[in-house]
Amino acid sequence: MQSVLSIDNISKRYGRIQALKNVSFEVPEGCVFGILGPNGSGKTTMLGTLLNVLKSDSGSFSWFGQANKDSNRKRIGSLLETPNFYHYLSAVDNLKVTQAISGRGKRSDIDEALETVKLTERKKSKFKTYSLGMKQRLAIGAALLGNPEVLVLDEPTNGLDPVGILEMRELIKHLAKQGKTIIIASHLLDEVEKVCTHVAILKKGELLTAGAVDEVLVNEDIVEISASDISKLQQVVANIPGCLSAVLTDKLLHLKFALGTSNLEAINQYCFNNGVVLNQLTARKKSLETKFFELTNN
Ligand code: ATP
Repeated sequence: MQSVLSIDNISKRYGRIQALKNVSFEVPEGCVFGILGPNGSGKTTMLGTLLNVLKSDSGSFSWFGQANKDSNRKRIGSLLETPNFYHYLSAVDNLKVTQAISGRGKRSDIDEALETVKLTERKKSKFKTYSLGMKQRLAIGAALLGNPEVLVLDEPTNGLDPVGILEMRELIKHLAKQGKTIIIASHLLDEVEKVCTHVAILKKGELLTAGAVDEVLVNEDIVEISASDISKLQQVVANIPGCLSAVLTDKLLHLKFALGTSNLEAINQYCFNNGVVLNQLTARKKSLETKFFELTNN
């Protein structure tokens, strides 16, 4: 698959803070690419750099195989922070203003964008009457003007309720089906796992891993266990035969074994023999969340 974006050794400092450190990865054409990381890991700095809002200290990137050409910018729609729409104008009028400022696309793009983000029925309502989810979808509508091939979205589900999150997920999937490449920065791992085909995981400005979700979530057996005395359980599991690692998240211990080698009965027996009674024991497919905690905790 061809790369839409190649990032080569990008570094960026803010005074003493190293926001990005030699980050390199590729974004394949047509994928939904999640840039993940805890707060302060450098996601927004990375997106700002890629959109020429910020300048990196070193390294380079190229969109569509061409080094930083001005004409590339029109092929990329972006939503870095919620745009300042006018509260007393309708969706249509707000997009007309956006279009007049950006010079992107033609008049008919507005209706098309509103249709895509499912705001056609409310297109004449004033912005101030919109729910947060509708406001966020209008912002994506604005990013869609000019029909860009790539969309870059920073935390698109920020502040949305579960319904708003679901609508955003459906919208992203719909746009991906149309063949757009979508790059999303997010700290919502569960959400990212539901829509992304590829991920890059950042921690304190460093890239921990990048690639197709299936490759990043390499096949391993994951077993989740818990007990009322979690610290004693932690001590005991350190010696379970075959256990490669144990990571504690939210009162659950995630044990990692080589593929096909975990044995729930043996784990249960081992803990019992060592004085801990389990109150939970589940075999699980590795989630992006598990992988993320594993990487970012080390
Ligand atoms: P969040 O999810 O909280 O938005 P992030 O992963 O997007 O975090 P960045 O906003 O890129 O991370 O920040 C990376 C680091 O750089 C942080 O330590 C942050 O405090 C710092 N930083 C970001 N912008 C500036 C700035 N303008 N001046 C100084 N430090 C900054």
